[in-house]
Amino acid sequence: MDTTPPKVATAEPGAEARPLRNAILHKLTYDLGKSRLGARDRDWFIATALAVRDRIVDRWIDQTRASYEVGAKQVYYLSLEFLIGRLLRDNVSNLLLMDEVKAALEDLGVSFEALREAEPDAALGNGGLGRLAACFMESMATLSIPAFGYGIRYDHGLFRQLIRDGKQREYPETWLDFGNPWEFARPEIAHEIGFGGTVEAVPISEARVRHVWKPAETVQAVAYDTPIVGWRGSHVNTLRLWSARAADPLRLDAFNRGDFLGALAEQVRQESISKLLYPSDETPAGQELRLRQEYFFTSAALQDLVRRHLRVHGDLRSLPERVAVQLNDTHPAIAVAELMRILIDLHDLPWDEAWQATRGTIAYTNHTLLPEALESWPVPLMERLLPRHMQLIYLINALHLDDVRQRFPGNDALLSAVSLIEEGHGRRVRMGHLAFVGSHKVNGVSALHSDLLKKTVFSDFNRIAPGRITNKTNGITFRRWLQQSNPALTSLLVEAVGPAVLDDEKALEKLRPLADDAAFRERFAAVKRANKEALAKLVKERLYLQLDTRAIFDVQIKRIHEYKRQLLNVLEAVALYDEIRSQPTRSWVPRVKILAGKAAASYHRAKLIIKLAHDVARVVNSDPTVRNLLKVVFLPNYNVSLAELIVPAADLSEQISTAGMEASGTGNMKFALNGALTIGTLDGANVEIKEHVGDENIFIFGLTTEEVAEHRGKGWRGESAVSRSRRLEEALEQIEKGVFSPDDPDRYKELVAGLRGDDWFMVAADFDSYFTAQRDVDARWREPDRWWRSAVLNTANVGWFSSDRAIAEYAEEIWNVPVRRG
Ligand SMILES: *Cc1c(COP(=O)(O)O)cnc(C)c1O
Repeated sequence: MDTTPPKVATAEPGAEARPLRNAILHKLTYDLGKSRLGARDRDWFIATALAVRDRIVDRWIDQTRASYEVGAKQVYYLSLEFLIGRLLRDNVSNLLLMDEVKAALEDLGVSFEALREAEPDAALGNGGLGRLAACFMESMATLSIPAFGYGIRYDHGLFRQLIRDGKQREYPETWLDFGNPWEFARPEIAHEIGFGGTVEAVPISEARVRHVWKPAETVQAVAYDTPIVGWRGSHVNTLRLWSARAADPLRLDAFNRGDFLGALAEQVRQESISKLLYPSDETPAGQELRLRQEYFFTSAALQDLVRRHLRVHGDLRSLPERVAVQLNDTHPAIAVAELMRILIDLHDLPWDEAWQATRGTIAYTNHTLLPEALESWPVPLMERLLPRHMQLIYLINALHLDDVRQRFPGNDALLSAVSLIEEGHGRRVRMGHLAFVGSHKVNGVSALHSDLLKKTVFSDFNRIAPGRITNKTNGITFRRWLQQSNPALTSLLVEAVGPAVLDDEKALEKLRPLADDAAFRERFAAVKRANKEALAKLVKERLYLQLDTRAIFDVQIKRIHEYKRQLLNVLEAVALYDEIRSQPTRSWVPRVKILAGKAAASYHRAKLIIKLAHDVARVVNSDPTVRNLLKVVFLPNYNVSLAELIVPAADLSEQISTAGMEASGTGNMKFALNGALTIGTLDGANVEIKEHVGDENIFIFGLTTEEVAEHRGKGWRGESAVSRSRRLEEALEQIEKGVFSPDDPDRYKELVAGLRGDDWFMVAADFDSYFTAQRDVDARWREPDRWWRSAVLNTANVGWFSSDRAIAEYAEEIWNVPVRRG
């Protein structure tokens, strides 16, 4: 094996092309067993990925070993979701091998772009939460923080969305069909995960018993490791995903009797744990299998890190000094009880020491205030599936409530508010409370969200544990969301402010003066135009629709959810359509509304909104009086790769959630970085984006969080907004009458009735304000100098939203680990 150290940033360009070419060919021949002539793009992709992976392995092994040797503190990021997307461009680019790989492939007569697109998206997540985990993994490697990501290696990631007849259809996603060249299977790294059974108290002395959990069944968690390369290949970490393997693959007795299905039944049942990612965004699936998934990966992660810690340090009491465990939302919250079980039952630590070690190690990130999304599990289910954990949770709760009782005597309301157990019809374990009590820090993901955490869901906890809630505003990795997805803009930035922008997000600020430079603005606009051309080409290929790239590309891409208010956007399209038809000779600013996103399969309303978008699109796009002034486009199967294409082509970024409901958003950051102006509410990180880009470079509209709460408190009815707005009234009437759904005029009756009724998401309430803000957008577009000045200032001013900044804050304030750039 080649053991020479891998190439570093200073090597002359081109030096690696020849050996890479040979390595790719070697992989194709000897790992895939294919000839050059018979190889397809997919084969070339796998051969190239394997050759690139070889360049990663040496430093990965060296650095991992070195971090153990010096006893460096390890960060463990536990997440039920990692929405990674493709890795080829990420890895090649972070290794600084792009020119060499392209040259090597060219020499072989293969197009890099073609094989890049042969890589399936790793869609092991639903949306923002999973994408955050992926960005954080890349930033931790970039900042040389020794870290593991722990999650589940789902056989099937997020469903593939097809649109038939304007309706979403879900199909299983099959990313592993042709193998995954990035991962290393580790069949020898396997942990036993127990479920069910009983707990026995076994006396170990006159004074103590040990609790022994005898699970009714055990499943093996098998490790699959993917190296995660930081920028400039500075550091390589591990994403370790667990796959379920049945302890006994086959019941031979049954098979020999001829009962083939019965022989396999147990295996199928056990291995179903890692079969499928739940397509539930924001709401828990509420199913036993989901709880099994959560415990499965959390237990595997903790067993794994405890074993590693013991091997390196020998004593579990030092856990908090050497290990930081970050819980990405409550999905891994059972970690609190599982770590206690491991420390007490398996390693004989006394309760107090175990508790100190647990709380010193764990920290928890909250991602939502939506009450329906706060996880809780029925006590009977927990008792049946995790009997020992349920005992420990009762004990943790008793001590926690004793402490509160002592410090706040006579406050029963407070006690029941902060209890880990929700009483009332059907007792449940509140996972958010368990995570809070077992963590030394709890963070929200934007300034507004963290503030609301303190005032709403965790207000009582904030009283009993002041200072534990902190804020860590989300970020995105600029490598993927600028350098790789928008190479033309990146080149322009490097030319304008120097190559430091590739390494330091603060260097973007040097762009500010250029916002007033007409020649620079023109070049900035030209990059955007070229990106729009590329997107228009894709739309033409996929939807047979011709777009005018002189139009504003107005983009809303994200999960389809009522609180994200795609409906508000579509209503605006309907209203604009009306106005264009009623005043066809007025000078209108041409617009292309681009939407993409998936709805949870069981979310009827969200699917209806997708259907409405298509119904409106069909009518608008085929009406000759509208000419090219308005187009509505819905691009199917939104995923990371599609986002990488759309974001650089956007002029306007729609971030229009009902105020107080979007925890942070990260899509908003991607767009601003790529020079799109935001139209948005004062919600999530939009508030901070506004502060960074400046009030005059963003279009803010709508009710504030307080006003939304006030409206709801006073029994708001959408009808009162409708009766005040001719424009809204007309738009709603048309939809109600079936103008867009002549085949089924009543299709949207219920949807519109909701807007006239309690209008929970304030769509009617915010409509006029939104429409007016959109006309402000039109006015700005008519003044290209001002538009592009704002666009440049967006890019210049959002460096702070880099996930490097976010991770550096976690490192300093939560994990207590050093960071190093380069
Ligand atoms: C960034 C991203 C998200 C999150 O988008 P929001 O607008 O913040 O909801 C979801 N899905 C994908 C594929 C993304 O890239």
